[in-house]
Amino acid sequence: MTASLPQGSIIGIIGGGQLGRMLSVAASRLGFLCHIYDPSAAPPAGQVAYQVTTAAYDDEAALRAFGNAVDIITYEFENIPTQALDVLQDLAPIHPGREALRVSQDRLTEKEFLRNLGLQTAPFADVTDAASLDAALAEIGAPAILKTRRFGYDGKGQARIASRDQAAAALKEIQNAPAIIEGFVDFTHEVSVIAARSLDGAVAAFDPGENVHSEGILRSTTVPARLTAAQRTDAVLMAAKIANALNYVGVLGVELFVTSDGLVVNEIAPRVHNSGHWTQNGCVVDQFEQHIRAITGWPLGDGQRHSDVVMENLIGNDMDRVPELAQSTDCALHLYGKAETKPGRKMGHVNRIIRA
Ligand code: AMP
Repeated sequence: MTASLPQGSIIGIIGGGQLGRMLSVAASRLGFLCHIYDPSAAPPAGQVAYQVTTAAYDDEAALRAFGNAVDIITYEFENIPTQALDVLQDLAPIHPGREALRVSQDRLTEKEFLRNLGLQTAPFADVTDAASLDAALAEIGAPAILKTRRFGYDGKGQARIASRDQAAAALKEIQNAPAIIEGFVDFTHEVSVIAARSLDGAVAAFDPGENVHSEGILRSTTVPARLTAAQRTDAVLMAAKIANALNYVGVLGVELFVTSDGLVVNEIAPRVHNSGHWTQNGCVVDQFEQHIRAITGWPLGDGQRHSDVVMENLIGNDMDRVPELAQSTDCALHLYGKAETKPGRKMGHVNRIIRA
C-alpha cells in the first residue's frame, strides 16, 4: 500500500471551472485543501477553494510559486500547455501523468495509441492539407468528420463532410488546422466508462452511462446504459487496459460508440468527466472523491451504483427550470456559481433518481 498524503496537504488544481470546483469540494470532505490555478478573474472553483492563483499559463513566475505552494498537482482539462507542465513537473508530482496528457492532447496520437492497444476506433487518417484530405476521403469514404488534432472540446473544431465536394468548405471551417478525418461510425447509442486507477495500480470502474449529445455537447447521461452483460464487461476492460497502458493515476473517462460490431472507442479524457456526474447521487463514492482518493494514495472507494440516475446538463437558459426542479423530491441540483448565463454554457446539472 502506497503511503497516503497527510491530512491538510494542498492539492493544486489547474483549471477552475465546474470540474475543479467539484474536485475541490470532494477534496475538502477528505480533509485536503485546494489551490486553483486559472487565468480567468473569478473561476467557479475559486468560490469553494482554499486559495486561487489568477495568472496565465505562460506566467513562469506564477507557475513556480504555485508549484512550490502545493503538495501534488492535478487538473480539470487536458489542453494544458506543455511549457507550463515543464515548469511544474520539477516542483510537485503531477497526476494523471504527462503521458496521459501527451496522448489525449492530440487526436492523431490518441487514435494511434488506441489502435496499438488493439481497441476498435473509427477509421481515421492524418490531414495536413487539401490533397491529404482528398486522398483520405477516397479511402475512408463519406460521410466523415474532420476534427482538429488539438484544442477541440464540446464539438468545437469539427466539421462534418456529407460528400467529397464538401471537403474544401470543411477545411476552411477548421481554418486549415492540422486535423484528422474520421469515418462516420454507425452507432446505435453512445456510452462512457469512468474508471479510476490508484497509485498502486488498482482499478475500479463505475457502471457505464448512456450519453445523449446534441450539437457536440453532452445533454444527458442515463444509468444503467443499454448494454449486454458482455458489452458491460468489455467496456470496463477497455478502460482498465487504457489506464494500465498509460500507468495512469486518477479518474479517466472513455467515450464509446455501441455498434453491431462491438464497442468502438471515440475518445479518452484524462480527468473527471461530465458523463460521470451521475455518480454524485448514484454511488457512495463519486467520481470526484474517487479522483482525489487515487491521486492522494487513499484506497479507491466503492463505485457501485446504488440507484438508477438520469443526469441532465443545465445549459444556458435551462437555468430557468431551476425553481421547478428545486421543488422536485427526486432531483439533486448541482449549480456551478457562474455569474453569467450564456447560450451553450454549462451552468449546472441535475441528477434525477429513478425510484423502482
Ligand atoms: P467528440 O468531440 O469527438 O467527442 O465528438 C462529439 C460527438 O460527435 C460524439 O459524441 C458523437 O456524437 C459525434 N461523433 C464524433 N465522432 C464521430 C464519428 N466518427 N462517427 C459518428 N459520430 C461521431
